[in-house]
Amino acid sequence: MGTFDVIQGDITISRVDAIVNAANTTLLGGGGVDGAIHRAAGPDLFAACVPFNGCPTGEARITPGFELPAKWVIHTPGPVWRGGQHGEAALLAACYRYSLQLAVEHGCRTIDFPSLSTGVYGYPLDQAANIAVRTITDWLTAVDVTVRVRLVAFDSQTAAAYREAQQNLT
Ligand code: ADP
Repeated sequence: MGTFDVIQGDITISRVDAIVNAANTTLLGGGGVDGAIHRAAGPDLFAACVPFNGCPTGEARITPGFELPAKWVIHTPGPVWRGGQHGEAALLAACYRYSLQLAVEHGCRTIDFPSLSTGVYGYPLDQAANIAVRTITDWLTAVDVTVRVRLVAFDSQTAAAYREAQQNLT
């Protein structure tokens, strides 16, 4: 049970229980949204990620948000697009499910996602949007608690793709 919305904005300013980070498997920071989250959270975030010794693609790890307005950060390494025949779709769906599960286990009721894998990792935007929207809405239907999930698109093209994926569902 819950709601799913698409908004356009900067996820580092989201005042929510948890934001999700499009991490890499080292969990030690990188470019794109990962770099922006680490800069906004401060150096404690890096220190909190070191003990994990990385994270496999499709799983997730949780840390405090430190200097972010968000209480928690959920770090999930999305799949790198390698043509679509290397399990990318299943791995991307697993990132969304694993992150949502970890969030509710920590009492989160408001959760914001960036568009996982569609930046440097090269996942085709329309395909990624369809997988994300379907996975999130299926998960919301199955869970007992009321959760508000948002997809925070950084640019208008990304927002449009996720809104279209939402339309395609119904
Ligand atoms: P990946 O390596 O998973 O592809 P990227 O960070 O390169 O991750 O890109 C994922 C998405 O995050 C892209 O749509 C990118 O435009 C977006 N993004 C970058 N900075 C921010 C931000 N501050 N807030 C929300 N989304 C962002």
